[in-house]
Order: sequence, then C-alpha cells, then structure tokens
Amino acid sequence: MSSQKTPQSLIAHNRKEKLNLARYTGSVCRLCRREGIKLFLKGSRCETTKCAIEKRPYPPGQHGQGRKKFSEYGVQLREKQKVKRIYGLLEKQFRNYFYAADKKKGVTGENLLQKLELRMDNVIFRMGLASSRNAARQLVTHNHFTVNGKKVNIPSYILEQGDTIAPNPNKLKKAPVKNAIESMEGKTLPDWLAFDVDSKQGVVRALPAREHVTMPIEEQLIVELYSR
Ligand code: SF4
Repeated sequence: MSSQKTPQSLIAHNRKEKLNLARYTGSVCRLCRREGIKLFLKGSRCETTKCAIEKRPYPPGQHGQGRKKFSEYGVQLREKQKVKRIYGLLEKQFRNYFYAADKKKGVTGENLLQKLELRMDNVIFRMGLASSRNAARQLVTHNHFTVNGKKVNIPSYILEQGDTIAPNPNKLKKAPVKNAIESMEGKTLPDWLAFDVDSKQGVVRALPAREHVTMPIEEQLIVELYSR
C-alpha cells in the first residue's frame, strides 16, 4: 500500500501540526528557573530533590548566574510570563483572557485569575485528578472527563458554578484516572471545589475568589503592563 498522504490526511496532519504549535514543548523546568520559583509543572517530581530549581536555583543560560536588576517594565513582564507559564498559555491566548477580564465588571486582575482558575484543565488539576496542569490537559484532550454528563475534550473550556465533572465511564479503568481517584481519599480540595469518591463526581461549588489562588501572583503588575 502506498504511504502517500491523501489530501484529507494532509489537512488533518497540518491541523495537528498547528495544534502542536499552540503550546510550549520545551523544557518546563527551564521556565521555573527563569521565573525563579517552583511553578509545579511536572507533578510529583516537583516535590522531590530532583526538582531542577533545587539543584540550580538561578536562571538558565550562559548569563544565568550574573546578577540582574529588572526595570519596572521588566518586573511587570516577568509577572505576566510567570502567570502564563503557570497556566500553560501562549501569549495570544493570555492576552485574550486579559481583554475579556478587562471588559468584565469588577477588578480586572481578579477577573483574570478567576477565568484562568475556571479552565477545565486547571479544575481537573485542582481537584486532584491529575498531577499537574499539563497532565490534566492531556487527560482532557484524550476524552477522560465529562461535564454535566457530556464529553468535553477542550482544556480551555470554562466551567461555571454548579457544573459537575466526572470521569468518562469508558476511561474509568484507565490507570491515570483510576489511580487519581483511589488516592483522593482524605485529600483537601480548595473549598470552591468538591469531589465525592463514592459517586466519582466532582462539582464546582462556587466561583473561585482571589484568596483561592495559591501561587504567589501580583496580578496588578500584569494590569499595569497591559495598560502601558
Ligand atoms: Fe519546576 Fe517542577 Fe521542574 Fe521543579 S521539577 S523546576 S517545580 S517543573
């Protein structure tokens, strides 16, 4: 059989290529070292002595160990980069979240963080169903979860208060989800989320508030950056 690609498969291939381009595929530990804090992008490894920032707590690259003083703009830029990296977004996606947050009533920075917290991949991670946001994204893309009983495979899907999340019944026996649920007993979740191990169902109990964001983020710096 010829291995030549049909036009349809070429289109699919190109689409996949584009999708691959829409996420960062380099070393994630470099990102932590660049930002100077643990961003917890690698799951359980982040809690071990193998963590790259424990071993090399300075920025990557040839001049990483040189002393660096940031300008005001530099500080704002780094804060934006940090938040982008925590949630695994590229520039354009992040900017769109910011513009949407800016249009909404309320405090722009808090609107922004609330929107990011409500992404499906983040919720799966925060519920303890995946070891990192990256792992959560992969599980979501591979159809491991349902929202209100319907399959959702879009990591950027924004959940709402009252939405229920459950593992896809067809994937319940697969190791990642099965193991995650088995290890959930006794885990403390943020109080805007809940997961019932017996019914294997989670719920967004409330909209996340500013105090629910546990990473050290100064969102005002991002607002100032985009207001320049
Ligand atoms: Fe960051 Fe985790 Fe890598 Fe440590 S192991 S540098 S926290 S991604």
